[in-house]
Amino acid sequence: MSEHYDLVVLGGGSGGVATARRAAAHGRRVALVERGRLGGTCVNIGCVPKKVMWHAADFAERAAHAADYGFSGAPPTHDWARLVANRETYIRRLNRIYGGNLDKAGVIVVEGEARFVDERRIAVGERELSADHVLIATGGKPQWPEIPGAALGTDSDGFFSWTERPRRVAIVGSGYIACELAGVLNGLGSEVTLLLRREHVLKEFDALLGETLIERMREAGIDVQMNRSAAELVEAGEGVAVRFEDGDTSAPFDRLIWAIGRRANSDAIGLERIGLEVNADGTVPVDAWQDTVVPGVHALGDVTGAIELTPVAIAAGRRLADRLFGGKPDSRLDYHNIPTVVFTHPPIGSVGLSETEARAEYGDAAVTVYTSHYVALYHGVLEHKVPSDMKLVCVGDDERIVGAHVIGDGADEMLQGFAVAVKMGATKADFDNTVAIHPTSAEEFVTMT
Ligand code: FAD
Ligand code: NDP
Repeated sequence: MSEHYDLVVLGGGSGGVATARRAAAHGRRVALVERGRLGGTCVNIGCVPKKVMWHAADFAERAAHAADYGFSGAPPTHDWARLVANRETYIRRLNRIYGGNLDKAGVIVVEGEARFVDERRIAVGERELSADHVLIATGGKPQWPEIPGAALGTDSDGFFSWTERPRRVAIVGSGYIACELAGVLNGLGSEVTLLLRREHVLKEFDALLGETLIERMREAGIDVQMNRSAAELVEAGEGVAVRFEDGDTSAPFDRLIWAIGRRANSDAIGLERIGLEVNADGTVPVDAWQDTVVPGVHALGDVTGAIELTPVAIAAGRRLADRLFGGKPDSRLDYHNIPTVVFTHPPIGSVGLSETEARAEYGDAAVTVYTSHYVALYHGVLEHKVPSDMKLVCVGDDERIVGAHVIGDGADEMLQGFAVAVKMGATKADFDNTVAIHPTSAEEFVTMT
């Protein structure tokens, strides 16, 4: 027998859960299908466990500063397995909270793998759900290279299953995950080699951030190797070595992590049955309203290849539910000026255009750039001081701020408020007119000359 809903959601991750709850809050009958653990990538194998690991590495870094702050005694030792156990307990709690919130909202959670039967019907095992609207929010998975021996490596999902810390780790990639995991593992005591196929990291960001990060990573002891394209992985004792395209072979590593991007989960949900063609990279095409070309079928979050961030999927989902069921016909997400933080060591915060993007969009003559290179007060008493860097990118005679970028202590907590200002169209004069908070790092944003 078919069960009918106003909305059936495929995927119980950031976007799916947010959309389902908002639609239910509008009084609609909603079912959500999830094949794994509620919360999706972010809660189980993404933002949450990553941030716990980042905090652990941050703690180790602070502990190394203890002597300069007058503390003495043996440095603390670290128990990786205990950290992982505590982290997983926390995540299980979040899974229960997600389930509880969906129950309270009246959303029917269906466990299993969802597949389209046709535009309005979804099969989950023996069960069939029908709906007026269907949302595809099935997220993505780590991408792997097609080279011999690739399976000797692992990916970020594998990293989160480690119960002990490897001594020597190679990370292949140059994006968020490669840089974040390099910082975590280095902070917690592994010997880390970061293998870049070119000469940059974080290519989508303002060049100041990536260039500075490479310097900071090297100073912190990470072996950043450039122009290293992997051609093959080979067994090396208990571990793995990399054969590069230029014929070189690396030293052996205990573990190797592929962090070379992610691929949409769009291949096994029966899209061919509803005539919905995916893009060449597997992402589901949508318009600015999260609508696919099939009436009544919507998509959002990582599966669409939109900016792959949890708050983006959530915001898109809530707005979609408000439009479809909440009487707000104009509700949709504005994808401009979305702030982001890369949880590296030190962290990076960024909103708006890079200097290069601003020059391309507005022309060199219209762009004014302000930078600041400073040592945060926290580092003042340390023997080894790590400086911070900031950049404001402004355009026009009124110097409207179109980009704000920072790498350094506190960048992660600093940027949200500045992102509000940028989104509201703040000018350099607005920043200058704001009295600084002293002594903080954030005050540098309002004191640049
Ligand atoms: P997901 O959260 O991936 O949810 C999709 C869900 O669909 C999954 O639970 C999956 O099991 C389910 N599913 C798939 N196919 C089916 C099917 N056929 N039937 C039923 N269920 C199905 N973002 C940030 O904003 N900040 C961060 O710090 C951050 N850190 C990250 C760290 C890592 C290591 C990774 C990998 C990602 C990180 N992200 C971060 C990105 C963030 O996790 C994603 O952008 C976000 O989870 C996308 O949400 P989503 O709803 O589109 O997909
Ligand atoms: P990214 O897209 O950030 O980076 C992947 C990079 O790997 C590419 O840009 C490319 O860089 C490089 N690459 C691609 N193929 C190869 C290859 N064969 N060999 C070597 N390098 C290669 O992907 P991630 O997997 O790091 O993260 C996926 C997404 O998840 C992110 O884009 C982000 O949206 C989200 N995320 C967000 C986080 C946060 O908010 N803090 C944290 C983690 C993930 P190049 O072309 O320069 O070589």
